[in-house]
Amino acid sequence: MQNLATDAGYDPIALATATEKVVVDGNRRKYVQLGRPLRFYGGTTSATEVGCNLRCKFCFSDKPVWKPKATGKFYTPQQVFDGLVKTAKKHGHNLISASASEGTLGREHLHELLALVEQSEYIYILETNGMTLGADEEFAKSLAKYKRLHVRVSIKGTSPEEYHKLTGAKPDSYRLPFLGLRHLIYAGVSCNACVMISFSDDEGIKNVKRMLADTHPGILKSLELEEITLFPKVAERLKREGLRPITARRIRSKLYGRNTKG
Ligand code: SF4
Repeated sequence: MQNLATDAGYDPIALATATEKVVVDGNRRKYVQLGRPLRFYGGTTSATEVGCNLRCKFCFSDKPVWKPKATGKFYTPQQVFDGLVKTAKKHGHNLISASASEGTLGREHLHELLALVEQSEYIYILETNGMTLGADEEFAKSLAKYKRLHVRVSIKGTSPEEYHKLTGAKPDSYRLPFLGLRHLIYAGVSCNACVMISFSDDEGIKNVKRMLADTHPGILKSLELEEITLFPKVAERLKREGLRPITARRIRSKLYGRNTKG
């Protein structure tokens, strides 16, 4: 019988390295687009990145995650910054971000982008599943010099078993985003946690809150509980995988459909 605690699934850190070979070229990273308005945080401008180190079965992002080679184009940090600022100005947004994939792939690109944000009036929201930040404390510490940065760490599910079922990744990598949060908090980086709870019962939600409180009690104050949005392609994938969400958001309008994070 397979030992869930150790040997099932892929390693998100190895997948990060493999994906970087496809979506990163020197200081350039692949994107699908460089700035669209979203409703989050009272209005933000977001670029669509390509390449992720998880394969969440509920993920709305399709080609950027599953077909990174065939998707998007390479852009320099300056091109990405300029694209974000152009749309942010148009919509009066102070917050800029990238979404639909993993934000920490391509560290040289990310650091150069954050250095540009640092000289500007904008705040950059780094959307991450927290794997790479948990695995590498020095990486988390290296972000502490950016004061116009907020890191949003998204935890997939409420236990290692549920995480494995939802992502196909090794159950023991479930601990990495918690470690990532700890590294960020100790380094003084602005951050918060969010947990996907669409497949979780009350006991599971209590469990993940306990784990977060053990990581750092203050995290609970800014905790976001997230539900999937049932886009047709997401519903189809979940059905194929035999997964049924307990709670989900329905698509209310075309605009609502465009406003989803990765
Ligand atoms: S939900 Fe986020 S972490 Fe999961 S596959 Fe999609 S982009 Fe990656």
